[in-house]
Amino acid sequence: MITVLFDIDGTILNCNNASRASLIQATKEVFGTIGRMERVDFQGKTDPVILKESLEIMGFSRTEIDEKSDLLKQHYFAHLSQNIRKYEVILFPGIIEILEALTSRENVVLGLLTGNFYESARIKLESHGLNRFFEFGAFGDDAPVRNMLPAIARQRISEIYSIDIDFSNTFIIGDTVYDIRCARYAGAVSVAVGTGWGNMETLLNEKPDHFFEDLGDTGRFLKLLDI
Ligand SMILES: [Mg+2]
Repeated sequence: MITVLFDIDGTILNCNNASRASLIQATKEVFGTIGRMERVDFQGKTDPVILKESLEIMGFSRTEIDEKSDLLKQHYFAHLSQNIRKYEVILFPGIIEILEALTSRENVVLGLLTGNFYESARIKLESHGLNRFFEFGAFGDDAPVRNMLPAIARQRISEIYSIDIDFSNTFIIGDTVYDIRCARYAGAVSVAVGTGWGNMETLLNEKPDHFFEDLGDTGRFLKLLDI
């Protein structure tokens, strides 16, 4: 049995700032300011960490941020649902073919491992009808730190499929150094893709187990999983 966990932004799709714009609008409405958000690097970070880094510097306490987080999420999801239709969401090469191939195999557990909130992940994937491929995932709502997400994915797999997965047979696919580090932290196999914003050299310096410029060569990717 192998497990394949996909990041979303920069890995499956690029929602062209729809998410950044929505988070900024929502934060402005709920907190009256966006704090440092325009300067925060969103890549590889969970949504709660982006908010914390943007707002704590403005003097908001963690408690205040947490207290308003449900309201902020409602505003964010509402804006994202609208913005996702305005901004062109780009689906990267090979993704559909790979997801179809993986869901057709009985020895593959397929899921998400993303810093997105559950709801924003679903909104983004729905723009290309991809939710059908992902029965479960580990999300930014589950833990603020990405490195904690593989353990949550494992727990979820155990609950849903009654399978105890082995991280050495788990592939974590992502576009940033944080995805690579997260895989390494869990003892999983890291597969870096060059479809995100970051530069390729930075990714390669982090020494992922495997690197793909994009997943257009679906044969090579599926062979890597040995299925
Ligand atoms: Mg990403």
